[in-house]
Amino acid sequence: GAKTDQLGEHDYVKVEGLRKEFDGFVAVDDVSLSIRQGEIFALLGASGCGKSTLLRMLAGFERPTAGDIHLQGQSMAGLPPYRRPTNMMFQSYALFPHMTVEQNVAFGLQQEKLPREEIQRRTSEMLALVQMSKLAKRKPHQLSGGQQQRVALARSLAKGPKLLLLDEPMGALDKKLRSQMQLELVNIIEKQGVTCVMVTHDQEEAMTMAHRIAIMEAGRIRQVGSPDEIYEQPNSRYTAGFIGQVNLLEGKIDTDEKDHITIVCPDLEHQIYVGHGVTGYEGMDVALALRPEKIRIHRDEPQQACNKARGMIQDIAYFGSHSVFHVTLASGKVLLVNHVNAKRWASEQFTWNDQVWLSWGELAGVVLS
Ligand code: ATP
Repeated sequence: GAKTDQLGEHDYVKVEGLRKEFDGFVAVDDVSLSIRQGEIFALLGASGCGKSTLLRMLAGFERPTAGDIHLQGQSMAGLPPYRRPTNMMFQSYALFPHMTVEQNVAFGLQQEKLPREEIQRRTSEMLALVQMSKLAKRKPHQLSGGQQQRVALARSLAKGPKLLLLDEPMGALDKKLRSQMQLELVNIIEKQGVTCVMVTHDQEEAMTMAHRIAIMEAGRIRQVGSPDEIYEQPNSRYTAGFIGQVNLLEGKIDTDEKDHITIVCPDLEHQIYVGHGVTGYEGMDVALALRPEKIRIHRDEPQQACNKARGMIQDIAYFGSHSVFHVTLASGKVLLVNHVNAKRWASEQFTWNDQVWLSWGELAGVVLS
């Protein structure tokens, strides 16, 4: 409608100053967020950071201590779950055990007292969407974990919610099935075009499924961004360390005689060049966040490299497609380095206790204050 157009797709869901206290304990601390229409948005964080409480406030199961939630410009304050245009899929799926697949999906539509033909049409449409039409007469206990999840999703989508809430959607599945279902779920959600907020503590899951991720810590949002923004441009040591592996080189800003900004790091013999666009004052404490795949490994000193360090291979973790070297510098600091195992019979195979050189470019890392 006109109102939606005015709001713009960016403020489809607007969370403002949301706070939740339990007996004086602050579980969600002044959270503000804007979620776009059609987006899959993940709340990611360690156990106890407040992500489930935030999701439960979106659903209406928990009443905020302060702040408000708007959905398409409409305040959700005081609305119980069943009066909201939202639907939550629980980690346990909460399917009715005595009902068939079909009856489970139709249940919510029957509660709405929709005409029978429409219930039938909508139910079979949903079962087709999740590819469960053939198993429509089965009971939940006759289904695999992945099939149960698809039924739960069909049931959540049946009423056409404006906001789908997923609580640890892969929590009940084993590891192999998880990665398969992640992509499948994304396909179904995107096909429906439904806006979705999901909670997970699994970084890989958030990276695979979400268009944008909010990283939470101790009730607060630390960073919001697309998976690659968060990986490539972390805004703090916390977020850099939370997603993927990272080397943090702590040091102080120092400008050289040509006015290049560098970092002097006690773990390295040479100063680190960090390129233009980095701001900071002389002597400022900073860290360079350097991903393991941004570092190259050499037998001999790389003469041309702008940043380099010498070390010894202390450990090698083999992952098939790549290996992760643990390289110890003279200071004792250990750097992680990814090495792609492209050439099976490469003559330059590295092994334990090898003396090696590491190098990386001016723009390889992110400077964090
Ligand atoms: P997990 O991944 O373990 O579920 P979470 O990030 O989802 O963690 P929440 O369940 O939101 O975390 O809980 C956030 C904090 O609030 C925790 O310290 C928890 O103990 C506390 N908490 C949650 N619900 C209640 C409650 N009903 N009463 C008191 N404290 C609560």
